[in-house]
Amino acid sequence: MARIGFIGLGNMGGPMAANLVKAGHTVTAFDLSDAAVSAAVAAGCQKAESAAACAKGQDVIMTMLPAGPHVRAVYGAKGEQGSVIDSADSGTLLIDCSTIDVASARSVAANAEERGLEMVEAPVTGGVPGAVAGTLTMIVGGPKAAFEKAKPFLEIVGGKVVHCGEAGAGQAVKICNNMMLAITMIGVAEGMTLIRALGIDPAILKEVSTAGSGNSWALTNYNPEPGLTEGAPAGNGYKPGFAGAMMAKDTALAIEAGTSVGVPLPLGGAAAQMFRLYCQAGMGGDDMSGIIRMLKTK
Ligand code: NAD
Repeated sequence: MARIGFIGLGNMGGPMAANLVKAGHTVTAFDLSDAAVSAAVAAGCQKAESAAACAKGQDVIMTMLPAGPHVRAVYGAKGEQGSVIDSADSGTLLIDCSTIDVASARSVAANAEERGLEMVEAPVTGGVPGAVAGTLTMIVGGPKAAFEKAKPFLEIVGGKVVHCGEAGAGQAVKICNNMMLAITMIGVAEGMTLIRALGIDPAILKEVSTAGSGNSWALTNYNPEPGLTEGAPAGNGYKPGFAGAMMAKDTALAIEAGTSVGVPLPLGGAAAQMFRLYCQAGMGGDDMSGIIRMLKTK
């Protein structure tokens, strides 16, 4: 069994760390939030007082942080006191599961390599239900040898593990996935809002489209209309789940990537704007499926 340091125990990291404990690993946890650390301790993790303390003496370090700046700050570089890369023992494998920009992923991987540490990025898809059930899809970028070492750990938190290529490739696939999710989520929200306004029960639309050509993950597994997907944030006052602010970040990353390679993204751009408006309306801390409330006229 391995010694694992886990940093970032929020909506996703908390249940992922709990699953590593259930699999028999010794997990040491750190987060800036005391509440998140307490929940991890209740799930069987040991508490670390800092990221550096969490990084020392581990076989593997996993992180699940909000965005690129957090990941760059936590990992740091060789010689940067208090950083993960400086504090980790030689031979420790680094796995960052956060969704971040490709450039940050590549620069952190380069810093790890300079210190002689193996690293992969492994952003995920599947949401909080997938994190709790250990059925996430792990979208991995990094050297093949590091991927093979990371795989047994990724298979505990995920149901499917895909090696996409070198450093940055996992993040590239992940932001395309989330741009497609943002577009389909808004599409489902529009359909649900329209059917209700036409005087027809949204459950009927769900039943028909689930079996038909309008089907999507957002429709069946994460419906934005309360009561149509058991356990979805819509039935829980849009408590995340996956915060709107995270989706605003991910769609902005997709647009930035599109601009960098000259690919027009008309619907991705519209979705990014919608999620920015959602945040500006003060709902960025709510689940992204709550975007349906931006469409409701009554
Ligand atoms: P979250 O905000 O719930 O959790 C992030 C945690 O990181 C928080 O507990 C925060 O206190 C901690 N943190 C921030 N800076 C830190 C630091 N310097 N040191 C230690 N801890 C720090 O976010 P989440 O929903 O768990 O998402 C995490 C990542 O997973 C994001 O990149 C997100 O895009 C991605 N993701 C989320 C979902 C989802 O459904 N929530 C799905 C797929 C991917």
